[in-house]
Amino acid sequence: MKSENIRTTLPPAPMRHAEKLRAAGLKVTGPRLAILGLLEHDRSHPGAEDVLGALRGRHPSLSLSTVYKTLEAFVRAGLCRHVAGDGALLRVDGTLDPHDHAMCRVCGAVFDVDRETVEHPVPPARLAGGLTVTGIRVEYDVVCAGCGRTGRPGTQRERTEHAERASKTASTAS
Ligand SMILES: [Zn+2]
Ligand SMILES: [Zn+2]
Repeated sequence: MKSENIRTTLPPAPMRHAEKLRAAGLKVTGPRLAILGLLEHDRSHPGAEDVLGALRGRHPSLSLSTVYKTLEAFVRAGLCRHVAGDGALLRVDGTLDPHDHAMCRVCGAVFDVDRETVEHPVPPARLAGGLTVTGIRVEYDVVCAGCGRTGRPGTQRERTEHAERASKTASTAS
């Protein structure tokens, strides 16, 4: 296949992603483009190991430490949202539209919850100690369907299915 053909059939996503990186003040690199592209579609709130696992086939030279650093840089730059944890436990969300999260206390799976589910309190503009409030979040402490049925952590497949179903519900509700 000629390169012209490849170019015309590729979606414009990489260009869009490169622009996003530049707008966020980040240099455009192969790993950053790949990770940004993955996060755009991944509704499972992945951690660094999940991201590496999903991209390793196409990017064999990608390392776990590059993924960690990239996710942290993305969170700082506002390209993805910090959901939970730090370091090895860091979980991120590439979907920036406002929503809350429910975290299974048994297996740690994270689910999207529609913001309209409960009425959020209106926060003060400032808190003591010179803190400027930029938003308020609600986090639900839950037991997911997979864990509730067996009392043991649900399988990865069950968690993915539930996350997908939950995100579908959330998007049709909004
Ligand atoms: Zn669970
Ligand atoms: Zn989310």
